[in-house]
Amino acid sequence: MHTLEAPAITVLDHGFIELIDALGSDLTVVNAARVSFGKRKTEMSEGDKKLIRYLAEHQHWSPFRHVQIQFHCKVPEFVARQWYKHVVGIAYSEGQSIDHAWNEISLRYVNASEFEFYTPQGFRKQSEDNKQASTDELLEDPGDLLKARYEAHCRSAFELYDDLVNAGVAKEQARGVLPLSLYTEFYWTASLQAIVNFIKLRKHPGAQYEIREYANAVESLTQKVVPIAYQSLMGSGQLG
Ligand SMILES: Cc1cc2nc3c(=O)[nH]c(=O)nc-3n(C[C@H](O)[C@H](O)[C@H](O)COP(=O)(O)OP(=O)(O)OC[C@H]3O[C@@H](n4cnc5c(N)ncnc54)[C@H](O)[C@@H]3O)c2cc1C
Repeated sequence: MHTLEAPAITVLDHGFIELIDALGSDLTVVNAARVSFGKRKTEMSEGDKKLIRYLAEHQHWSPFRHVQIQFHCKVPEFVARQWYKHVVGIAYSEGQSIDHAWNEISLRYVNASEFEFYTPQGFRKQSEDNKQASTDELLEDPGDLLKARYEAHCRSAFELYDDLVNAGVAKEQARGVLPLSLYTEFYWTASLQAIVNFIKLRKHPGAQYEIREYANAVESLTQKVVPIAYQSLMGSGQLG
């Protein structure tokens, strides 16, 4: 159980990342490595910091996997779809096998009328050389007309959803009309190695702006749990 004071970090217009729990610290990495010599430390020394840097530089990943961090994430649906691709090193669940520790709010149970949708501050232009990406340049939208239409469309999707549910349609089917901008919430528990892999890939300029914002928040919370191990892993070469 972690004892860190780490308030939730607001991301985008209605999202957040919150640190729920953490198993381990920088010392966890040190002791996982030092057990080879039958040793255990209770306080970090300069030698321990060097050891962590050595482990990261030489790609000895297993000591880093003893650190597990649990986050509560509120993200737009399209960000969740990207996040969900990160499957390896996502913590153990009950049972014998390694499972993907991702538990999400269910729109089969919860009424989506209570949910919010994401509205970007501005619309980015489509990149010409990368068909998947946008540029940093914002599209001109005089009078915010496109933005107003975007919001009206999302609101009307929620209204149709309400009409369907009020008419007796099952929530699991009515949700089919909701937009990808809909916010969802999940718990995500991952090993430090998997978290660093996520951050490296999703902070990269090639990743979508919205998930980059979440990667920055995950980074900031991870640094609080394992400052030395995190810095060493980010400074090391390839990871995943
Ligand atoms: C900019 C960007 C664009 C993307 N575009 C798309 C897209 O268009 N469509 C799409 O479907 N996905 C896309 N992705 C997702 C991408 O393909 C990965 O699925 C995602 O980034 C997860 O990364 P990963 O494979 O490293 O994670 P994980 O699958 O969690 O793997 C973590 C690490 O474990 C190791 N590993 C995993 N499996 C094995 C194995 N079998 N053997 C040995 N080592 C293994 C690797 O080192 C790997 O990096 C995109 C990702 C980014 C960052």
